[in-house]
Amino acid sequence: MGVTLDLSRAASAAAPTRPNLSGLTRPQLAAALVEAGVVRPEKAKMRATQLWRWIHHYGLTDFDAMTDVAKETRAALAEAFTLTRPEVVERQVSRDGTRKWLIRMAPGIEVETVYIPDVGRSGALCVSSQVGCTLNCTFCHTGTQALVRNLTAAEIVAQVQVARDDLEEWPSPKEDRRLSNIVFMGMGEPLYNLPHVAAAIDIIADNEGIAISRRRITVSTSGVVPELGPLGDQTQAMLAISLHATNDELRNELVPLNRKYPLEQLMAGIRAYPGLSNARRVTFEYVMLKGVNDSPAEAKALLNLIKGIPAKINLIPFNPWPGSPYACSDWKTIEAFAAVLNRAGYASPIRTPRGRDILAACGQLKSESEKMRASERRRLDQAALASQAKDAPAA
Ligand code: SF4
Repeated sequence: MGVTLDLSRAASAAAPTRPNLSGLTRPQLAAALVEAGVVRPEKAKMRATQLWRWIHHYGLTDFDAMTDVAKETRAALAEAFTLTRPEVVERQVSRDGTRKWLIRMAPGIEVETVYIPDVGRSGALCVSSQVGCTLNCTFCHTGTQALVRNLTAAEIVAQVQVARDDLEEWPSPKEDRRLSNIVFMGMGEPLYNLPHVAAAIDIIADNEGIAISRRRITVSTSGVVPELGPLGDQTQAMLAISLHATNDELRNELVPLNRKYPLEQLMAGIRAYPGLSNARRVTFEYVMLKGVNDSPAEAKALLNLIKGIPAKINLIPFNPWPGSPYACSDWKTIEAFAAVLNRAGYASPIRTPRGRDILAACGQLKSESEKMRASERRRLDQAALASQAKDAPAA
């Protein structure tokens, strides 16, 4: 069973009424400073660089701690903007060290973010890109939750900031990081939210800030083929494909998006992914479902399908969730499947299930927000708007 720990670090639940600077790209940050009249246009770039270091290298949430910024400027910044983190509603730590945060971005807008130690170079953060998902993959718990909305770049970056607060990893360490990799494998289909995902990657990868290299950022998609090229061009992120089946009939069932973009189109899109090479291989994710997709014949079909693509294959033992229609393949079956792939020269690690006791494992994420009825969400939104109007300075 997971352990729920104290939430004393959680920020205030009050919805910020001022724009949050920590979700802006560098050019947006410079423009926002000028627009608010805090900085003259000729100083905007310099001031944005200075603030950027404080926000993204040191992780500050208080303008007053920016010691090399003049006192009057700090006051003007605090009046016009905020750096507040969203509220951490729940924090759980698994027996295996996996951490899961339920983060409330706004009333009724909650996402789960998971930190998995000892993955990637030293630890990976699995971030969400949407609240809920439209795609209904039948093996995925998140898919049973209706889409609430896309997350903004600020809300995606906030997940990294919350994790780093909790891991006490500010300022950005040059080496021995606990959080070394980012994977967009949490809730949602990132390619249905590409503008915000790309802006968030620009912020996360910036060398003078959080500084996680683009080669350590992986975006996983269920196969939105038209967006693969733009993803590569705009982000230079590593690509992962949620594959799970080697023929259209089965994939139509497991990943219904396949009806729109069948395997032939998907594989052509992957082959054309910008920057694909032996050093930048695509990862195919393949969930092992007992008696569904786990036979040696399917392993061979998989080899056929990906022939010639620089790739590795992650075999994911299915993580059951309440009401799920599948069971996990037996260990021996998974090993036999992996052996076929290994013999053909593909790295095909079997992913160790992590955080199962706190429902943090792959495909298990689902926020509590869906339990809130739409009418309740509207009521909360209206209450938040009313309180913002009350707090706003008189014209
Ligand atoms: S696997 Fe990804 S795309 Fe499919 S339902 Fe789950 S969150 Fe959505």
